[in-house]
Amino acid sequence: MAAAPSADAAASHGARDSKDSQDSRDSHEMLAVVRADGRTSLSRVRRPTLAAPDDVIVRVAFAGVCRTDLRVADGGAAVSEPRILGHELAGVVEEAGPRASVARGARVSIDPYVACRACAGCAREAPCEAPAMLGLDLDGAFGSHVRVPAASLVPLPDDVPLDVGAFVEPVAATLAILRASIARADRGVVLGRGRIARLAYDVLRAKGFERVALHDPERDASLPASSFDFAVETALDAATVACAARLVRPRGRIVLKSRAGAPLAIDFGPLLRKEIALEPVWYGDFREAAALVGRLEVRARLAAPRPLAAFAEVFAAARDERAGKQLFALSGER
Ligand SMILES: [Zn+2]
Ligand SMILES: [Zn+2]
Repeated sequence: MAAAPSADAAASHGARDSKDSQDSRDSHEMLAVVRADGRTSLSRVRRPTLAAPDDVIVRVAFAGVCRTDLRVADGGAAVSEPRILGHELAGVVEEAGPRASVARGARVSIDPYVACRACAGCAREAPCEAPAMLGLDLDGAFGSHVRVPAASLVPLPDDVPLDVGAFVEPVAATLAILRASIARADRGVVLGRGRIARLAYDVLRAKGFERVALHDPERDASLPASSFDFAVETALDAATVACAARLVRPRGRIVLKSRAGAPLAIDFGPLLRKEIALEPVWYGDFREAAALVGRLEVRARLAAPRPLAAFAEVFAAARDERAGKQLFALSGER
């Protein structure tokens, strides 16, 4: 269910709101980054309340901005409006429904995809065919509170600070690479630049893939052809696929990791000639991600967290893949 902007929000929609304090004037309201009326702005909306017996209300401590949020903000992803953006977060359980087996005060991150529990994928513990995503199909994390089903909670280890915990989702997305048919002894290459490629490289190394290289296909074409067993793409475009097809040996594989937002024209010729397999992967295990995130020097990649009021600047900075990961600081908890 969408958070309806209050009458007050509808009237004050837009830049004037960005001067508001993050504290609600009314405990039933909160400020949030909202897509509505074909634009994205900081608006005053109703705070979420429990809607189902297994629902939980999480007080958001930190929320990260990623490419999906930028797509929604730009109108590049269809959402029913109004919609609160954001799907990468860590926070503290503030309220739990009678059938939610979680303690108030629990420190958690979130798996942002809520499975439908009715499709062929859900029936065989494969990816859900029609998951509802936080920040896209459901109201998300860029507000003081968010409602999620208890099954979406990912408990954080005690030694993982909440800003680092907000990075569990990107780590889980990266752990998906391990679902591909690759082995630790394989020679692999991660293609891309910036944060996501670096994270994929670090996760593979942390998981014992010692023969993995990081390569920017735009910068240099010097690597010898057919010198890797597998390639991992982290920003899918035709040039990256062509580069991967050149670098991977015959009967090697290309792991498709990024979530392409648009159709792509690919030359399948080199892939067919070398019998290279394309292997798409979706998500790894979120609990494994929560256990791993503290070991990945995530802090070095995070920009200084900023309040929601700075949302325009934060979103502008998030467009630079080489800059630090942008984070909102909400509740003040760490
Ligand atoms: Zn994300
Ligand atoms: Zn399903």
